[in-house]
Amino acid sequence: MSVEFIAPYNSPQKTPENLSLESTLKDLAVFNFQVESSSLAKDVARLFQAHPLLPGVILTVNGEFLGMISRRRFMERMSRPYGVDIFADRPIKALYQIDQTELLILPGIALIVMAAQRAVQRPPELLYEPIVVQLEPQVYRLLDVHQVLVALSQIHQQATWYISELYYNLSVTQSELEAANFQLKAANSELYRLANSDGLTQVANRHCFNEYLEKEWQQLGEAGAELSLILCDIDFFKKYNDTYGHQAGDACLQQVAKTIVEAVNYAAGEVSEETMVARYGGEEFAVILPRIASDFAVSIAEEIRVWVKKLEIENIKSPVSCWVTLSLGVASTVPRPETSKKDLIAAADRSLYQAKDAGRDRVILGAIKLDK
Ligand code: GH3
Ligand code: MG
Ligand code: MG
Repeated sequence: MSVEFIAPYNSPQKTPENLSLESTLKDLAVFNFQVESSSLAKDVARLFQAHPLLPGVILTVNGEFLGMISRRRFMERMSRPYGVDIFADRPIKALYQIDQTELLILPGIALIVMAAQRAVQRPPELLYEPIVVQLEPQVYRLLDVHQVLVALSQIHQQATWYISELYYNLSVTQSELEAANFQLKAANSELYRLANSDGLTQVANRHCFNEYLEKEWQQLGEAGAELSLILCDIDFFKKYNDTYGHQAGDACLQQVAKTIVEAVNYAAGEVSEETMVARYGGEEFAVILPRIASDFAVSIAEEIRVWVKKLEIENIKSPVSCWVTLSLGVASTVPRPETSKKDLIAAADRSLYQAKDAGRDRVILGAIKLDK
């Protein structure tokens, strides 16, 4: 009699964390119970009894692989009427020959995922038959289908975790991209603001004024709508600087600019969104008033004059008032092909100097001259 068995689980068992889609049958614990086919069936019965988890035994002839008999088939045959009487004292190969079933033999390098697929594709009566794993030529082991399914579920778990990590990383990358995009937009709008606004007073700069006037000139020309322009100049500002210093002069410019914006917003009301206040020069500001006719423009200019004077910024050396005052020149037109925006600016500038000449702290409306 040669019942030979080698300790089961002699292959290194991988921990579930190590199993992946690429894991093979070699990575699983395999049973290694070899039984010579001449062994008696009753000895095999003792073997099954001693090892309750053993799914089956490998049968050999002179150490060479013959086949496999599963615990299920063995027990089934033995429990039939007279089963024990017929087989107990006969070699196991007698029982094997009667009950021989189709074997599922897979190489050790077969993927666990593939092996599970092959195992469950078998006909229902063979579904739980152990899988024969061929590790090397003439080296066979047994694998419980249950073990394969457990391994498969661990691989599935790993894969799900991996995918969720992947999604998480993707969503992190996505939100990082969104944050970077947000910062880029903020940086861009800050750049735009810096490029278009005056550093001291924060109103639009001369470059921005030119672009906006050009754009409005075109659009209002096509629409046949009126465009007005106010030029404001601080009276005797040189004296202000001389009296209070350049820093105080800067602060005064800031206050005046802010007040012009507020006065325009207030006076222009609903149409104030289209207006633009810009720093035109040192102590000069310009106000572009699209779709605003001359009367309305004059009243807005008057509002500006009053609001700035009401700030009551002392300019003690000014011959016209003890407060900082403005002189304002207004010009209006409907842009036409024969006129240019330069004509509008020139008209507003002439009015401004008329206001200066007439005694300052006042608003003058001028007409556009077309004869040059
Ligand atoms: P007028 O009533 O004729 O306009 O007299 P004015 O003194 O205001 O005119 P003028 O052109 O003689 O002087 C303008 C002054 O504005 C001179 C200059 O030092 C001052 N100025 C221009 N830009 C700035 C600035 O950014 N900061 C300060 N503090 N002063 C400025
Ligand atoms: Mg000036
Ligand atoms: Mg001035």
